[in-house]
Amino acid sequence: MDWIEQTLEKRERDGLLRETTAWQATGGKIALGGGRTLLNFSSNDYLDLANDPRLKAASSDAALRLGCGATASRLMSGTLGLHEALEAALARLCGQESALLFGGGFPMNVGVIAALAGRDDVIFADRLNHASLVDGARLSGAAVKRFAHNDAAALARMLARTPVRGHRFVVCESVYSMDGDLAPLVAVGAAARAYGAMWVVDEAHAIGVFGGGGGCNLAGGAPFPKPDIVLGTLGKALGGFGGFAACGETVRRFLVTRARSFIYATALPPAVAAAALAAVEIVTANPGMGRELLERARAFHGSLSDAGLRLPVFSSHILPVHVGENRVAMELARRLRERDILAVAVRPPTVPAGTARLRLSVTRAHAPADLSHAARVIADAAREAGLT
Ligand SMILES: *Cc1c(COP(=O)(O)O)cnc(C)c1O
Repeated sequence: MDWIEQTLEKRERDGLLRETTAWQATGGKIALGGGRTLLNFSSNDYLDLANDPRLKAASSDAALRLGCGATASRLMSGTLGLHEALEAALARLCGQESALLFGGGFPMNVGVIAALAGRDDVIFADRLNHASLVDGARLSGAAVKRFAHNDAAALARMLARTPVRGHRFVVCESVYSMDGDLAPLVAVGAAARAYGAMWVVDEAHAIGVFGGGGGCNLAGGAPFPKPDIVLGTLGKALGGFGGFAACGETVRRFLVTRARSFIYATALPPAVAAAALAAVEIVTANPGMGRELLERARAFHGSLSDAGLRLPVFSSHILPVHVGENRVAMELARRLRERDILAVAVRPPTVPAGTARLRLSVTRAHAPADLSHAARVIADAAREAGLT
């Protein structure tokens, strides 16, 4: 087993070792005891719903009524009325006919892509697509063509010159997880339509923030085609756990019959489904929550820029502070941690080599005063680390 230790040692030398750290995590703030609080910029609990009393009540009530587990896969005896109610609510949120739940966004993306695409098909994928979309494409056996990030013209050229025996798929995200930038959905969707491709959009970071259902919904007023499938997670802005594909009724029927990570997996536990249903109800009834979060994030972006940090133009609640070197990114994260700010360094292969960064995500648990304080501290630490 020497090779395992050697691999780990090399990773450590390269500043690439990954480790887990236990926190008493409660979204945007972490209580450390002794009155100390970490401001958490590495949480995806964007709407601060994970600790919302309404979700907790719905969740604990479901556990008490229905037990801790669904006890079977959906196709055996695991389907609950709660699952169906949640799927209906998610479909409405995303403006689609139906939705299908999965035990996590990652297994969903792998299962959905691998179920739909096959050997004669070609998947046209944005170069920065999430690992789960990459793995699904690999598992599908389809050929994969990666287009330059957010470059709809490059996608259209690639679609025009790539011969395809079977079906075409265009797979992108709406808000990119490590850069926070937005896909040009109108142009990408138009290219997909022009070549008869099935269009799949991963809205993991947009659901609940951009409009109710995500980035596609936000642009809903413009004349652009609706995606064939919206992939979403219950684990980020919706504060819980699980994945869902929102799509037409026929696609859903296909996935129920073919998606292996749906078929061969235990259904979501009652408490998890109930929390998500409560979250979707809150988001649906309060469409301003996402907008308000984006306003706070815009102000934070402004404060960081005023304090001397160079950031990409503002697009979302995810702000990347580009560092480059893995070790410098870790050093900056360490300095911030000493000053009660948690911003975990994101390194390759999560991001391309040489582009290590701090990924700051703003949540509704960050008060405006927290954000202006954090901007000063982050700018100071960046200066000390030689970045500005
Ligand atoms: C987080 C994420 C996923 C996976 O979702 P989980 O529910 O966390 O498994 C999929 N796609 C993107 C773009 C993500 O950021």
